[in-house]
Amino acid sequence: MSWENNVRRVVPYIAGEQPKKKDVIKLNTNECPYPPAPAVEKMVAQMDANAFRLYPDPDTTSIVTALAEYYRVKPSQVFVGVGSDDVLSLSFLTFFNSGRPILFPDVTYSFYDVWADLYRIPYKTVPLKEDWSIDIEGMKQENGGVIFPNPNAPTGLFTPLDKVEEIIAANRDVVVIVDEAYIDFGGESALPLLEKYDNLLIVQTFSKSRAMAGMRIGFCIGNEKLIGYLNDVKFSFNSYTMNRPAQELGALAVRDEVYFREITGKVIATREWTKKELTRLGFTFPDSRANFVFAEHKSVPAKDILNYLRSQSIFVRYWDKDRINNHLRITIGTDDQMRTLIGALEAYLG
Ligand code: PMP
Repeated sequence: MSWENNVRRVVPYIAGEQPKKKDVIKLNTNECPYPPAPAVEKMVAQMDANAFRLYPDPDTTSIVTALAEYYRVKPSQVFVGVGSDDVLSLSFLTFFNSGRPILFPDVTYSFYDVWADLYRIPYKTVPLKEDWSIDIEGMKQENGGVIFPNPNAPTGLFTPLDKVEEIIAANRDVVVIVDEAYIDFGGESALPLLEKYDNLLIVQTFSKSRAMAGMRIGFCIGNEKLIGYLNDVKFSFNSYTMNRPAQELGALAVRDEVYFREITGKVIATREWTKKELTRLGFTFPDSRANFVFAEHKSVPAKDILNYLRSQSIFVRYWDKDRINNHLRITIGTDDQMRTLIGALEAYLG
């Protein structure tokens, strides 16, 4: 008998690489290529380190209030965490507790199966259809909960709201989580459905459209009862998940809607340009509404392109997994970065 027999063993999620080298074009983890809102930068310069003596507000009032105002919901319908990974992980722990398998697509955010394994939640994957769309009928089988990203990752494909509603309506006795990490790049949020469905939880993040991945801010919006249960679990786990600067800077970022529209608009425009160029170079991809494109080349293996781009200090994401091992997920950067990428691909592919 060894202590090792009693360890909670898990196969961890592997996050995208954060290269140590400076001069790289980093298109591998879907960060925003633009800085956070100007008010955030200003506040950082004025920050008083003495405030760090004190614990942060355990109720995260300032950022919850800002989000509630922005999304026109009650503060009691908002929960924030250390990135949406934190919010998602706590949601798995809180809501997926029936012993029945939860459902998510086979090709999706690769953290879902890791949390399910960590918390010993049984799960069943529902294969995406041939065109990469979510199999709506497959999401109606018996389950202990449902989760999917919209737009899906890494495909970038958006599921129309009537289909999202169909999934929620068919699963009224379990919690349905819609992970809207990429919703601000041209998708349509399921937020209006909250009035009709008390089993819907919508998760979003500041990491992509609000350019604050390094601050680690995520949140979810749902029925007050759902949020209450989430808070019970959070306060049974760690009362001070979000630090002071994250709470304050996050509240400031939410309030600058003009800047938010400006940077998401730029990313969308650059994405559409990138799609045309990739098509010209012989790539195909689902029609992304996210800040990345999931592309496959008609003749050159993804792994070769990946390695070539790396040699040019351009980082994109690749998974050696069933169904997707000939695809590259390319984050949308600035116009300049994407021109460099297209130039490099053009040189390589002839
Ligand atoms: N959901 C999806 C679908 C994602 O791709 C990501 C980014 N890795 C996240 C959630 C988590 O993002 P964050 O923790 O930075 O909010």
